[in-house]
Amino acid sequence: MLKPVDIHLCQPGPEKSCGACCGLYNYRDSTRESLEARLKARTALFHDTVRGRGDLETFSDLVTSMESMEKRYEVIYCCEYLGFIDEEHRRVGCLLHPLQNNGEDLRDVSFYGRDLCDGHFCPSYYYLSRWEQQAVVNVIDDWYLYGLVITDIDLVKEYFRFIADGLGEAPDPGRLKTGRLKDVAQRFFNFKTTWPFRSPETNRLGKYYFDGSQYMISHINYDALSCERSRFDKIFLSLTSRFDSQRDLRQAEDLVEDSISAFIDYYRDHPQ
Ligand code: SF4
Ligand code: SF4
Repeated sequence: MLKPVDIHLCQPGPEKSCGACCGLYNYRDSTRESLEARLKARTALFHDTVRGRGDLETFSDLVTSMESMEKRYEVIYCCEYLGFIDEEHRRVGCLLHPLQNNGEDLRDVSFYGRDLCDGHFCPSYYYLSRWEQQAVVNVIDDWYLYGLVITDIDLVKEYFRFIADGLGEAPDPGRLKTGRLKDVAQRFFNFKTTWPFRSPETNRLGKYYFDGSQYMISHINYDALSCERSRFDKIFLSLTSRFDSQRDLRQAEDLVEDSISAFIDYYRDHPQ
């Protein structure tokens, strides 16, 4: 399958990468600390024990017996061959990829098989515009947050839509590589991990939740809060929100509003 645009969202550069479709965030405990420890341990094990194709079955058995394989959504596979592909542990990626194995492609042993692993491009390749993709790549320099954000189409689109509406034009992603605007946008996307109204339910990720047999779209019950649907509804769902009172909802709206306004004000006040 042809890649629809020219930014490689999976491996955009040396500072970060994404492994979401290999099941990275589908462990019941998908905190940064837990995933980092998991990926470090299996990467070390891979380099210690795998000398060729014949060692992969043992590696797979070892990983699945050593690690907790409790999942958030049962229907999504968590691949045991996802690890760190650089010495600094900044990039997650496939340990079976030819670049990791002296040119030999070992992905045919995996659950999805070589063709799917090689040819899969997630919806973000298609539904995020080029400038939205470039903006995320420029703003985020951390694998954990990057994978959460680049796959969250609603969050990215809504954030930049409010900004573009406020500015009267789409912001230039080139201005998000360094400096204050990058910081402001980073703070917004950091809500993915720091959001104070995040639901504690572990069967939820962004707007999806798993009811035991399938995963479905979540909703915020505005009737129970005696208020209208928030203009930030999509953002709130992406942030896995749960509001116990109207006061919580208004505080959440203020946080998002302030973040968006900070971007717009700085962008407008510092033209280039
Ligand atoms: S979820 Fe998308 S960006 Fe992430 S690794 Fe998969 S195809 Fe690449
Ligand atoms: S084998 Fe496929 S699913 Fe597993 S880490 Fe590699 S690319 Fe991802």
